Amino acid sequence: MSQDRLPPPELEACLVRLRPSSQKGGTIIVEDVTDLATHERRLCDPDGYRPRFCPTCRETTLHVHDYRERVLRAEPGRPTIETVRHECISCEAIWQILPLFLARCLWRTWPVVERTMTGAAAQADEGSRRWPKVPERTQRRWRARWLRPARFVAQVLTSCGEATWAAAAGTLAPAATCAELVAACVRATMTAAGMALAVVAALVFRLQASVRLM
Ligand SMILES: [Zn+2]
Repeated sequence: MSQDRLPPPELEACLVRLRPSSQKGGTIIVEDVTDLATHERRLCDPDGYRPRFCPTCRETTLHVHDYRERVLRAEPGRPTIETVRHECISCEAIWQILPLFLARCLWRTWPVVERTMTGAAAQADEGSRRWPKVPERTQRRWRARWLRPARFVAQVLTSCGEATWAAAAGTLAPAATCAELVAACVRATMTAAGMALAVVAALVFRLQASVRLM
């Protein structure tokens, strides 16, 4: 059986969703959960990941709907991660709750994607044996996104109302790539290496859920 269970996505079609999702609920990215240990602690606590209110109808009572296991490909550690979904008692919307470090559409964590894109994966450092190799075809797909013009994503940041992000986007040349946009955001916000893609992707998702950074 093929390693890739899903067909490779069309570049533009998957990075920008043109129609609003017909599904009730959606994804909430919890931006202060940056590592697996914190994620597992929050998962064990029944209230750890419970949204304070339903983003659709503002109802404040949500129950755990289920726990789901997601496959992670090419992780240095365990190849799966458990996530929780909550259901709103009023509108029945179901919200999947994801930690910041999980790349929601890429079957990976963001540190793995960032490590692959920034070239750190090529370094023969001590830890490289613990980081399985990302297949060439996947790397090519990611690289096309990483090096695509950032204009559209930059517009999202420019209009976000947060001065730091808007200023970072404002420093970019018109032909700047997403890689340069992420670098500018890292400089502006002093984000730690390894979490830069995670932080920018979460911000783009929060501002404009229909647009994907990668
Ligand atoms: Zn609701």
